[in-house]
Amino acid sequence: MDCLFCSIVKGEIPSTKIYENEWVYAFADIDPQAPFHAIIIPKEHIASASDITAENSFLVAKVFEAVAAIAKAENLEEGYRVVNNCGKLGGQTVGHIHFHLLARRNLAWPPG
Ligand code: 5GP
Ligand code: ZN
Repeated sequence: MDCLFCSIVKGEIPSTKIYENEWVYAFADIDPQAPFHAIIIPKEHIASASDITAENSFLVAKVFEAVAAIAKAENLEEGYRVVNNCGKLGGQTVGHIHFHLLARRNLAWPPG
């Protein structure tokens, strides 16, 4: 299967690692939308939020454990935003579930 983020997990496509453990990998977004912009993904291929099931939902919890660890390591105590884009209207452009961690600027609400 041809998946950009699976290729990044395997190291076939280079990335700037921010965090990694058994379940998740986090790397710098190639087109950052904030001074700090990480992409956090489960290593297992899951296409989108719509493909979360009772069997794989623990990986979403693992992503948020990574969020907390990264926030601590990167001193993001002023705040940050975690975003999941799902599907065409949700703005998802890569078909492997991922969570954006944006920080170090004032983030507008509601988003555009
Ligand atoms: P989406 O729009 O699907 O929510 O987010 C996909 C994100 O992946 C975008 O922010 C985009 O900049 C990032 N991205 C796309 N291709 C690459 C790549 O090859 N390397 C890295 N590091 N980020 C990528
Ligand atoms: Zn994948």
